[in-house]
Amino acid sequence: MREVQIGGLVSFTTIDYPGKLAAVLFLVGCPLRCAYCSNPHLLSPNDGEYDPNRVFDWLKSRVGKLEAVVFSGGEALMQGDVAIEYMRRVKELGFNIGLHTNGFYPETLARAADVVDWIGLDFKATREKYPDLTKQHIAYDNMIRSLDTWIETGKDFEVRVTCDPRFITKDDLLEIAEILRKRGVKNLAIQKYIPHFESDDNKTDAAMRNQFFEDAEFKAKIGSGFTSVIWRE
Ligand code: SF4
Repeated sequence: MREVQIGGLVSFTTIDYPGKLAAVLFLVGCPLRCAYCSNPHLLSPNDGEYDPNRVFDWLKSRVGKLEAVVFSGGEALMQGDVAIEYMRRVKELGFNIGLHTNGFYPETLARAADVVDWIGLDFKATREKYPDLTKQHIAYDNMIRSLDTWIETGKDFEVRVTCDPRFITKDDLLEIAEILRKRGVKNLAIQKYIPHFESDDNKTDAAMRNQFFEDAEFKAKIGSGFTSVIWRE
């Protein structure tokens, strides 16, 4: 069986797993091609640059210093059971396991649920706009199935929406918040879009990007019914 392929590593972070000091491993491969992707070098399922055994030995040296290891990407679950087995080994060292996921693999997420302690799930746009943003026609439905799968586990999670004004409006965000409220989602993060690779004919400006974050009445409407809403600017 092919080993897990790791394309990047952050050795210390306080913001990628709620309330815990963590490392982040970026696994290669992603089924989506989001217009705003900031990690295009991780999208193809190529060989990872990092030796997983050396990363594991390094993680052993972090026992007692870090509390969690977050699997990100790309989409970590694209590597399936190989990724889950690696998570299991890391968990046995005593770390909490976090997963940042686009929700494209609900069945794999269900298999990972006994290993993963917390997820940050991307809810990228309304159903109508998902294909345009992600270049994948089944991404929205899969993400909703992942959301429902995770809700059933009863484990903690956060839903994240990145506000790229080319693909999301304030009304869209209100619609998304309502979908989440109806499912009893408690933790929401609204993330500012940061342009990395915009083409000249489809550029955003600061006012377009800031519109979600500067309207107190709108923010109050979004926040209603959630335990926690983080506005990440
Ligand atoms: S899901 Fe994430 S890693 Fe994959 S293309 Fe979209 S932004 Fe990039």
